[in-house]
Amino acid sequence: MAETPRNWAGNIAYATTDIRMPRHRAELQDLVKHAGKLRALGSRHSFNRIADSDHAIVSLKGFERLYRLDPAARTVTVDGGATYGDLCPRLDADGFALANLASLPHISIVGAVATATHGSGNLNRNLAAAVAALELVTAGGDIVTLRRGDADFAGAVVGLGALGIVTAITLDVVPRFEVRQNVYVDLPFAAYVDNFDAITGSAYSVSAFTHWRGDSIAHVWLKSLADAPPRPGELFGARPADRPYHPIETLDPAPATEQLGVPGPWYLRLPHFRIEFSPSAGAELQSEYFVPRRDGPAALRALHAVQERFAAPLMVSELRTVAADELWLSSAQGQDCLAFHFTWQRDWPSVQQVLPVIEQALAPFAVRPHWGKLFTMHKADIAARWPRLEAFRELARKYDPEGKFRNAFLTETIF
Ligand SMILES: Cc1cc2nc3c(=O)[nH]c(=O)nc-3n(C[C@H](O)[C@H](O)[C@H](O)COP(=O)(O)OP(=O)(O)OC[C@H]3O[C@@H](n4cnc5c(N)ncnc54)[C@H](O)[C@@H]3O)c2cc1C
Repeated sequence: MAETPRNWAGNIAYATTDIRMPRHRAELQDLVKHAGKLRALGSRHSFNRIADSDHAIVSLKGFERLYRLDPAARTVTVDGGATYGDLCPRLDADGFALANLASLPHISIVGAVATATHGSGNLNRNLAAAVAALELVTAGGDIVTLRRGDADFAGAVVGLGALGIVTAITLDVVPRFEVRQNVYVDLPFAAYVDNFDAITGSAYSVSAFTHWRGDSIAHVWLKSLADAPPRPGELFGARPADRPYHPIETLDPAPATEQLGVPGPWYLRLPHFRIEFSPSAGAELQSEYFVPRRDGPAALRALHAVQERFAAPLMVSELRTVAADELWLSSAQGQDCLAFHFTWQRDWPSVQQVLPVIEQALAPFAVRPHWGKLFTMHKADIAARWPRLEAFRELARKYDPEGKFRNAFLTETIF
């Protein structure tokens, strides 16, 4: 019997062993056309059942490779199975870059975009906002291309796998650039809250790591453009680190990208983790919640007030900002955001107990959950948080009238 396939964290055993790996478009079109139910799988990094299916799963891991750079249009097109780790070194060698990246390069580009994966930076939008066009195989086996400006485009990009199988994706690129990474240690929590805009705006990309125990932010990672003037001295009371850090500071920093201000290419500094290492802690779970950035200080105080009630299973928490976009199901749709990320011990019973504490504390700020991580919010709350959700349901019905790509996760959260 085939071994049950699992997600990266190992907490999800997919409900099917039927994984199809088409090699080219015609094969995929035929497969989709004749399938009863089907779900696309990326690099398996989601922590919930969003990519699961109890029928069949399609992986584009073995799909025909595509890399088409258009320097004049400033775009690059890659196949639906490509990861950021596949794309970035080649793009850099060709003189171009992506504006931003998530904490790890190991994830598939289409899977990241489908769940509105993001990095950090007051002026940086999430990774889906870089999408200029999508090519997908829809439920009838047809190939559809949607470009920025087309009526359905803004609804289809953060598509949760509900509209079809994305076979190619076109991303905006910018000229390649260099980044320096500096870590600052022991920032008083009150200093972070009181200087929230100044700190989150103090570099191109800023991440603060905390354990929600006591009154301090453990460390703040500043990713600055290499040609920005160096920051002298302390960061609002936090001292410059004199050694490299792992986001979970008790772990060996070797898997973390280079720090201590050494300039290097964008794709080797913007993620926290190096491609040649397994990212993060491994045996872990993750959750993430988004509130409007203007509510950041109040939301931080609200969580701090209840921290004893959720800190026990926590390994580390990361605070990032994301600029607004207009993609219907983006976590930053219509508003600049503060994102509260939580890396938990892999102990779902304990995590399940504490998630409602966080969700309730952040409810006054119209909190939105990350589509690829663990949450306990119900369908009605989710529907209330995304003004275009009903329009998204209609769009999914247009491309997939019979619900071929619908799974239990989508039924429980969206439909
Ligand atoms: C260690 C770790 C660090 C992380 N860091 C971050 C971070 O910094 N920021 C952040 O926002 N998130 C982060 N995440 C979450 C991660 O980016 C998302 O879960 C993302 O969806 C993973 O992409 P994937 O390819 O693994 O997708 P999967 O989990 O495989 O699938 C996710 C969704 O994409 C859809 N999909 C995949 N491929 C296709 C396709 N070809 N066509 C149509 N739909 C498709 C699936 O159907 C599913 O709905 C992290 C996760 C891990 C494990």
